[in-house]
Amino acid sequence: MMLAELDNNSNLPAGIYYFINIMRDAFVKNQVRRYRQLQGRDNRKIIGTYCITVPEELIYAAGAIPVRLCGGSYEASCIGDELVPRDTCPVVKASVGFTSLNPISLYQMCDAVIVSTTCDAKRKLGEELSNYTEVWMLEVPHIKDTDGSRRQWIQQLYTLKKNIEKLTGRKFIGRRIRRKALEDSIGIINRARYQARRLYEIRKSPAPVILGREAMLAINAYSYDIAFEWTRAMSELNDELEALYHKGQFVCSEYTPRILIAGSPMIFPNWKIPSLIEEMGAVIVTDETCMGNRYLYDPIGTTEKSVKDMMVGIAARYLMPCVCPSFTPNEDRLYRLLQMAEEFNIDGIIYHVLKGCVVYDFELIRVEKIMKEKNIPVLRIETDYNPEDIEQLRTRIEAFIEIINSKKRKMKEA
Ligand code: SF4
Ligand code: SF4
Repeated sequence: MMLAELDNNSNLPAGIYYFINIMRDAFVKNQVRRYRQLQGRDNRKIIGTYCITVPEELIYAAGAIPVRLCGGSYEASCIGDELVPRDTCPVVKASVGFTSLNPISLYQMCDAVIVSTTCDAKRKLGEELSNYTEVWMLEVPHIKDTDGSRRQWIQQLYTLKKNIEKLTGRKFIGRRIRRKALEDSIGIINRARYQARRLYEIRKSPAPVILGREAMLAINAYSYDIAFEWTRAMSELNDELEALYHKGQFVCSEYTPRILIAGSPMIFPNWKIPSLIEEMGAVIVTDETCMGNRYLYDPIGTTEKSVKDMMVGIAARYLMPCVCPSFTPNEDRLYRLLQMAEEFNIDGIIYHVLKGCVVYDFELIRVEKIMKEKNIPVLRIETDYNPEDIEQLRTRIEAFIEIINSKKRKMKEA
């Protein structure tokens, strides 16, 4: 198991153990002690979310606690296999599996869940989950830049706000989300984003100070943590990584093949691709997935501090910069990938397609085309959470990294 492997690695930065323990508490020990403590005597509500298009600021501002529930477990996806069509993506299968059998307490603890109508699978996920829990659907427009879609989106967020207020209407915070509470919650998550961006910048260094599978795990852990605690731990990790950089303590050399992971979300504990890439001698320096860098990249900007102004800022942040392929057109994702390839000096892209995830697969051809112009190879990996294909994936990833290595050798010799 990935967590045990990490424990046995004595070269990890000390700050990463906080995030490993978050994952261990959630998935191995099944402990939700911290959530229980935070719920406190006021019995604060816990609200599950299923996409990065759900504004957590509204949840925190109402005194509730968000937890992102997109499932990454093979065992849970097997349970989901019995409940949803075979060709559904494993994220949705695992989410249904976790909810139906409640093997993980976090799913059980939620008072309501918010499901975005981003792709077909998510739309049907909402219906399925409503057999077990209270579900609020969040209708995300698929075309972003029309007046109608922006109006529809902001109305959706006001409806969501009302639902949250109704659920959390308690004496210590009042029934409505207040201006100050919203301002504070925007600040809390913007600070988390600031630390995520620091890590992002640190990973640009020519010789890396942290492996990608560990950095990605730390970002993934945000889903199961409380924002301000995660921010404190991430700030400490970043300080430590900066110190390692200044001391010249790198995890691999500047000649190590530098990989960008793109595509369908990689959700812990399904860590087979990040582990294989780095076992094969490459390093993941960045990713553009929605459980990784896309999750916490863009801050919310507000000019005035009225509730109305902040709601506009939230609506803009959660719609416009999101380059999930469930939006169309989605040219911005191509520009973003090009920008990342340049900023991180990328040698190759591993494009991850979860079985059944049509939206990401659709955009592959365009990604391959623009990367070909930049002479950056792209390897498409289609998989699910089943560990049986590991050896086959290992062979393909090894061959891909060997191509990059031989290209780098030739460039060095020239
Ligand atoms: S892939 Fe897209 S739809 Fe799915 S959770 Fe991520 S942002 Fe949401
Ligand atoms: S975007 Fe892809 S991975 Fe995400 S829920 Fe939809 S089909 Fe599944």
